[in-house]
Amino acid sequence: MKVSRETLSALLINPYIYDFSAYSFWSAPLGLLYMGAVLRKNDFHLSLIDCLEIVEEKRKEDGRAPFIKEKIKTPLQTFDGIRKRLKRYGISESGLIKKLEHVHRPDIILITSIMTYWYTGTKEVLRVVRTAFPESKIIIGGIYPTLCYGHAAIHMADADLIVRNNEIDVFYDFIEEHLSIKLRYRTRFYGSDILPYPCFDLYGSPYFVPILTSFGCIYRCAYCSTPFMYPRIIRRKPGHVLDEILHWHEFNVKRLVLYDDNFLYDKTNHAIPILKGIGDLPFKLDIYNPNAMNAALIDEEIAGLLLCSGFKEIRIGLETINPETQRKTGNKVDRAGFERAIRCLLKAGFKSDTIGVYVLAGLPFQKWTDVKDAIDYLCDLGVTPHIAEYTPIPHTRLYEKYSGFARYPVTEEPLYQNNALFPFCWKGFTEENLVFLKGYLKEKTKSRQP
Ligand code: SF4
Repeated sequence: MKVSRETLSALLINPYIYDFSAYSFWSAPLGLLYMGAVLRKNDFHLSLIDCLEIVEEKRKEDGRAPFIKEKIKTPLQTFDGIRKRLKRYGISESGLIKKLEHVHRPDIILITSIMTYWYTGTKEVLRVVRTAFPESKIIIGGIYPTLCYGHAAIHMADADLIVRNNEIDVFYDFIEEHLSIKLRYRTRFYGSDILPYPCFDLYGSPYFVPILTSFGCIYRCAYCSTPFMYPRIIRRKPGHVLDEILHWHEFNVKRLVLYDDNFLYDKTNHAIPILKGIGDLPFKLDIYNPNAMNAALIDEEIAGLLLCSGFKEIRIGLETINPETQRKTGNKVDRAGFERAIRCLLKAGFKSDTIGVYVLAGLPFQKWTDVKDAIDYLCDLGVTPHIAEYTPIPHTRLYEKYSGFARYPVTEEPLYQNNALFPFCWKGFTEENLVFLKGYLKEKTKSRQP
């Protein structure tokens, strides 16, 4: 197929998902929008269908919102015996078909796929899109095909290309070959400063914009896929990040969501100039960091800068207070370092309910009392714990070592990797214990409110 430059067009799709529960904690298909921006630099006309629509009237002031949803009949026998109800989050298949009717046949279609256990939504969207546009080239990318490439190759066989995170040249070569064009802009995805800003303008005037100032992480935590997804640490120049923030200001964006995994690494050369630069801007921003910061790297200066630059709340990952588990899972922070960070944040002016700390629940062979101890400890320190249910992620150390002990065949079927199914439930940490912990946490934090 030879295509003239004037007619190049690409459709970007963020599929709907099936899950037991889901909520938009500032979720956005950032990788897809970066790829769209790269295509736009190559003269592609872009359109976007984000199937994960939210209930706008229930949006919180900070930007979070529930996805639209519908209960469905559980489609897979694999869930027999599990009493939770599966829901579809986002628009329906018929809703997607209607939207596709308004799209002129694209030359290429990019479909992203995020969590491994959401692949059934992607598969359905692929079928619908293939039927609507049999001649378009369809490319699937994202976290799921990167972590489960073999599985995706089987289940997404209708796609023309399945591309992993670090295969940008495969993506470019495919487009050049199949559209018989020469791309004049073939930036490396991780080439930081020459990467165009993600095409969030396709949302019109976005309520918030995620911002990524760096890729990768210096730590190697046993439960985390970041080192696999981004083996190299690459950071954008602070000036480039600030230019992007100014760019979004022109779209009237008032909320930024920091997607970095390791923002504070080498803070003197990275986080500090960025935060100072944001603080000096002639307008105010509200900033959130749902991916958490490393407490070990928070000192008085950082705490003050976080507050002054507009962070409305700070999320930190503690994960466990069991010293042995801390050591075995990555040693990213110890108790002394964590407590120092909390003192600095409180001194800087953050309030108890604006310091949120993640505690992992459901690690392989973890005892439920470990989680209770962590909740007590954090409440005593005057901060707000958040239970993060453990997800077994392919290519992580814990997954490689313990997947055979899960109560479901997590290596055979990604649907079982869903943390809502509590894959590592065992007699030392039962479903009842988890329910108790959630109620316990609710009571503890409620009783602290003035
Ligand atoms: S510090 Fe955070 S991002 Fe880095 S490896 Fe550990 S959990 Fe992952």
